[in-house]
Amino acid sequence: MATATEARPALQRSLQTKMLIDGQWRDSLSGKTFETINPATEEVIARVAEGDAADIDLAVQAARKAFDSGPWRSMDARDRGKLLAKLADLIERDIDALAELETLDNGKPLNEARNGDLPLVVDCLRYYAGWADKIHGKTIPVRGHYFSYSKPEPVGVAGQIIPWNFPMLMVAWKWGPALAAGCTIVMKPAEQTPLTCLKMGELAMEAGFPEGVINIVPGFGPTAGAALVEHPGVDKIAFTGSTEIGKLIMRNASHTLKRVTLELGGKSPNIVFADADLEKAVDGAMLGLYLNQGQCCCAGSRLFVEESVYDQMVDRMAERSLNRRLGDPFDPNTEQGPQVDREQFEKILGYIEKGKQQGARCVTGGERFGDKGYFIKPTVFADVKDDMAIATDEIFGPVMQVLKFKDIDEVVRRANTTDYGLAAAVWTRDITKAHAIADRVRAGTVWVNCYDVFDAAAPFGGFKASGIGRELGEKALDNYLEYKTVTIALD
Ligand code: NAP
Ligand code: MG
Repeated sequence: MATATEARPALQRSLQTKMLIDGQWRDSLSGKTFETINPATEEVIARVAEGDAADIDLAVQAARKAFDSGPWRSMDARDRGKLLAKLADLIERDIDALAELETLDNGKPLNEARNGDLPLVVDCLRYYAGWADKIHGKTIPVRGHYFSYSKPEPVGVAGQIIPWNFPMLMVAWKWGPALAAGCTIVMKPAEQTPLTCLKMGELAMEAGFPEGVINIVPGFGPTAGAALVEHPGVDKIAFTGSTEIGKLIMRNASHTLKRVTLELGGKSPNIVFADADLEKAVDGAMLGLYLNQGQCCCAGSRLFVEESVYDQMVDRMAERSLNRRLGDPFDPNTEQGPQVDREQFEKILGYIEKGKQQGARCVTGGERFGDKGYFIKPTVFADVKDDMAIATDEIFGPVMQVLKFKDIDEVVRRANTTDYGLAAAVWTRDITKAHAIADRVRAGTVWVNCYDVFDAAAPFGGFKASGIGRELGEKALDNYLEYKTVTIALD
């Protein structure tokens, strides 16, 4: 396989590998750097400045200054919106190069980066550009001779920590509402995928965001990430990642009583009734699980199929999975690239072994693909029981569990037997069943006869251990606002 970097020298020459603090691109204070790897070839793409507590402190000071005394809070809301719209335009201008960089650093197929992730990034920023001048309070009819009103104000400096599965999209989901609300930002991208976030920082500077409004400190979770969570100058933490680290962040943010929103893991049920359009259900199950190499927080990794069509569904999933095209993510025909890094690759292979040991039937896949890069064959397990590790844990890879059910009460109970509650889907031609599932499954999103339909206007987030708060839509603005009540005596 020709390496992606060799094929794209121009891309490599234009990489941004420094941190963005107060409008300046700088090395880390320690001088340390870390490697970012191309997961398709296991080769080093570049070394990136490695921030730690001292760099986070500088970035927070810059964000504080831009918020407390800088131009950001006093700027007309409409002008803040214009800057967000300008950033969206610049991303659209550079969409091809950004998609290539995303594929290089993350391993996702170029086709998906270019035609899936990037259009959603642009749309999200435009959507929030439109909100900037539409955030307002209410007058409140209080008792007595008083005039009372509420006034939403930005929460202040937002610390934002994001994962590697949708690197640019996570930036857009975090920056959009925070900037529309009038917050300033210190962001820590994931160690595996810092490059496109830094490019977005370059474009933000080109768009004209004042210095200190957006700061980016690449580095590791336990150092840079933890310092951001502990820093007394940060008012709010927004985190996307694992439930385990989400719990740790909530604990650590409590010392300074930061506002915390969390978008965490899932083990989402995808429920297929026998009366469904099975062709569409198969397509939906494939997309719901395999999108992004299975590295989606809302992956439909528990496929519940009604008894009478179970064997048929298992066969179809096996056949379609076997025919998926794996390989060089830059090849336009590739449907599945590598997992993001060795750690994830080994974790997924570990779960596959556990599934086999615990007695699930591996009908296809079940091993790595090739001998270079972190590729894993699309894997389907049948005869899966609810208490097997592959049915309870978030695998975050191309591993599908197919479970059999008899009736609606049983499937609702089993769908809800999980600590998670991020998403669910149901496939049926019966509108009553569809509504019953939508009503009874405890999840932040329910898709009916579709999967992975996202829109900047539609809130997304988790019940239970899948998180706190909602991203996207009007709802996400609340993550970045404080509500002030003003009461004026009228006599
Ligand atoms: P993770 O550890 O939760 O990482 C997410 C982000 O949090 C990264 O930027 C990470 O930094 C940072 N972080 C880690 N420890 C931290 C700490 N003590 N304080 C502050 N920030 C910290 O996720 P992961 O290790 O990449 O993946 C592990 C599992 O998480 C996956 O297998 C998957 O199950 C789940 N996951 C879920 C999502 C989602 O969208 N909900 C996304 C990714 C992963 P580093 O860059 O140094 O890791
Ligand atoms: Mg990690």
